[in-house]
Amino acid sequence: MKALCWHGKKDIRYDTVPDPKIEHPRDAVIKVSSCAICGSDLHLFDGFMPGMQSGDIMGHEFMGEVVEVGSENKKLKVGDRVVVPFTIICGECDQCRRGNYSVCERTNRNAKLADKAFGHTTAGLFGYTHLTGGYPGGQAEYVRVPYADVAPVKVPDGLTDEQVLFLGDIFPTGWQAAVACDIQPTDTVAIWGAGPVGQMAVRSALLLGAKQVVVIDRVAERLAMARAGGAITINFDEESVLDRLGELTGGKGPEKCIDAVGMESHATRSIDSLYDRAKQAVMLESDRPHVLREMIYVCRPAGILSIPGVYGGLVDKLPFGALMNKGLTVRTGQTHVNRWTDDLLRRIQEGQIDPSFVITHTVGLEDGPAMYKTFRDKEDGCIKVVMKPGGVRA
Ligand code: NAD
Ligand code: ZN
Ligand code: ZN
Repeated sequence: MKALCWHGKKDIRYDTVPDPKIEHPRDAVIKVSSCAICGSDLHLFDGFMPGMQSGDIMGHEFMGEVVEVGSENKKLKVGDRVVVPFTIICGECDQCRRGNYSVCERTNRNAKLADKAFGHTTAGLFGYTHLTGGYPGGQAEYVRVPYADVAPVKVPDGLTDEQVLFLGDIFPTGWQAAVACDIQPTDTVAIWGAGPVGQMAVRSALLLGAKQVVVIDRVAERLAMARAGGAITINFDEESVLDRLGELTGGKGPEKCIDAVGMESHATRSIDSLYDRAKQAVMLESDRPHVLREMIYVCRPAGILSIPGVYGGLVDKLPFGALMNKGLTVRTGQTHVNRWTDDLLRRIQEGQIDPSFVITHTVGLEDGPAMYKTFRDKEDGCIKVVMKPGGVRA
């Protein structure tokens, strides 16, 4: 079959690889109808996440039709249409029973590596480094889904791929980021990053009743999309983030701050970002935490920092004294996707939200290598790429 494979920094190829097979009686194999490129894939593309190996199949946001089911899988049957969450979960361990799916204790088949790096293992993830199991991803014609009797979400009739695809990642991610803010009707929620996750966080924060949502980025079309969703925007290339957030909150700062940028933040007019770039380049720091520093500084005392943005390792010069003395709460994590999917699917069906608004590019899987670059460099107005392994229908 064909798949998008990682071969090193900025080197994704459309390769021919062996077809996946059922390896365990709970597995299923699905034929991918749609898959997407996520901002998290860019951290792999840019070579900032450790634990990738040449030839790894990319992709953790995908859906399709079940074509083969293992003998013990009582949930799925051939022909079912499913969205597959990016977190692989067993459904039975202590963490899964508490709904803490992204830290499932059993699905990371390289748990020892994760134990060493993080102190404990986290869940297996599709297409996302050998630290999280090294599972082949869904930017492919077919994918083996382990523990397929737990996580896959069956798609009701009448919904398009585009409406439901993002239930596997960015929609619950933006939603969980907003829920973590414990939003009150008087709250200003400031969101750094107007990429796909930031866009979902805007809609989620407003659905959850925020007084105002402010989005910070510097890419015009992304800021425009955030405004279309009801946000006030700040272009950090053109204006001072601290001054504008102060003005919008009567000088008090936003109560809730969401980092939808992660470890590759950019900054202009800031010494700390030059320092981070230099340290990252010589491997003395794995992540660039400019946004974290800005959030700690600007957040109203007793506020909440919600961090869906992905970090891989070590950050430097984090003002922990400010965080502590201001009494800020930090909430973060890979998304517990299945905690939210029932509720979010219902909201899509009821027409409260249609996540397909974020799609700017739909292409065949063979165009994937070029689209990684287009998405990363924000060329051609690119905000979210959907790929069709079966080719794009006219
Ligand atoms: P993206 O790369 O398209 O978006 C990031 C945006 O941040 C860009 O628009 C960029 O211009 C902006 N940005 C950069 N520096 C900034 C700064 N200093 N201030 C404000 N904005 C800045 O990616 P995305 O798909 O939206 O993903 C965002 C983050 O969320 C990534 O780190 C990704 O890995 C992470 N993510 C996490 C989960 C999870 O489960 N926690 C799931 C999906 C994605
Ligand atoms: Zn993702
Ligand atoms: Zn589990």
